Amino acid sequence: MKTNVSQWHWFEASASTHQTVKAIAQYGPIARIELAQKLGLTQGALSRITSDLMYWGVIREVQNTKNPTVDMNHPSDNAPLKKHRIGRGRPKTSLELCAQQRSFIGINIHSTGITATVTDALCVPQGKCLNEPLKGTDVTSVVRQLGDIALRCSASSPVRPAMIGISLGGHSVDGRTVTYAPFLKWDGDVRLAEMIEDSCSTPTLLSNDLDALLLHENWFSNAVNVPRFALVTIGSGIGYALSENGEAVDRPDRSYGLVGHIPLDAEGPVCYAGHAGCSQCLTTDSIVSEYATIIGKPCSIEEFMNDVNADRPQARRLIDRSCYRLGIFIAIMCNFAMPDKVLIGGETSSLYRHNLESIRKGMNAYRPTQAANIDFAIPDFSWDSWAISAAATAIAKYIG
Ligand SMILES: [Zn+2]
Repeated sequence: MKTNVSQWHWFEASASTHQTVKAIAQYGPIARIELAQKLGLTQGALSRITSDLMYWGVIREVQNTKNPTVDMNHPSDNAPLKKHRIGRGRPKTSLELCAQQRSFIGINIHSTGITATVTDALCVPQGKCLNEPLKGTDVTSVVRQLGDIALRCSASSPVRPAMIGISLGGHSVDGRTVTYAPFLKWDGDVRLAEMIEDSCSTPTLLSNDLDALLLHENWFSNAVNVPRFALVTIGSGIGYALSENGEAVDRPDRSYGLVGHIPLDAEGPVCYAGHAGCSQCLTTDSIVSEYATIIGKPCSIEEFMNDVNADRPQARRLIDRSCYRLGIFIAIMCNFAMPDKVLIGGETSSLYRHNLESIRKGMNAYRPTQAANIDFAIPDFSWDSWAISAAATAIAKYIG
């Protein structure tokens, strides 16, 4: 499928116009005065931009129901609102995205399966996410399964999806070609986006799954209005990403597992690179291996979690120690990067909810007592949020 420029964007306009829509998506509903301040635009310049966007059906004006004070600073008039006039002013209004006008498909490919969702333009899922195991890892099987899933998502969408966002643990070039995806064991570059477009006729964007999660946090979730935000994912590896004022801190080498071998516990298990107790000890495989050594027989992560939930002493001691190690990791990361907020995600993250007190102790052991408490959260893990994040990358591309 040959995609043209207009298919990749909601509208074609100036950089300021795209920035305005991005800010409305992130902060909306938002008052004009606040929006102008955030964008560094005059009220007049913003008015010209927003009137175009309202005419195109991208944004709309909504009444503030919580704060009925009058806005004396907005000079322009709007006939339908005249009946709400109070004295010389009028009720405050805000701007928001016309979210239901567009839909997006988000798909995450992970080691155990594929999760997909349909969202509106504010990345709100329009139904239940779809989860299914990978039918095969060869390129033909994956493309066929992704195409089939995308068509089913499209059929369930209230409006024809504008774009498909696909995220996976690996690297892609220009959002088009997968160059590295170790869990799929593909040999050489795969022009995955083009293959999906051929079967679905919908513009498709590829992204790294950690980048997608961070973008979603910055645009639609925990990192909105947070000056500096850190995201850590724990699963088969350790992922780390940082954003500043809503933008990812970017380096060409950021996705090569930079924090995968931070020293945490000199008495911890030895990783494949020969380090004792480096941050690999937080990963699923390392915890399972360490527990197997302790109990003297092979086990799975599910068996370990069952033993933790059953409060078996050996499992309890290991989870307490693992939480303490995570606390050290967070303290080291926060001492260097100084984020305002930290989010811990990934498929093993739920394990660390078992002892938040040990995490705090680990943090406190490596952080000056005068330093502020670290604001961190470990939300319930679900692959759904990874699929939703993939949709967020498509929305960002489509708006930007
Ligand atoms: Zn290591």
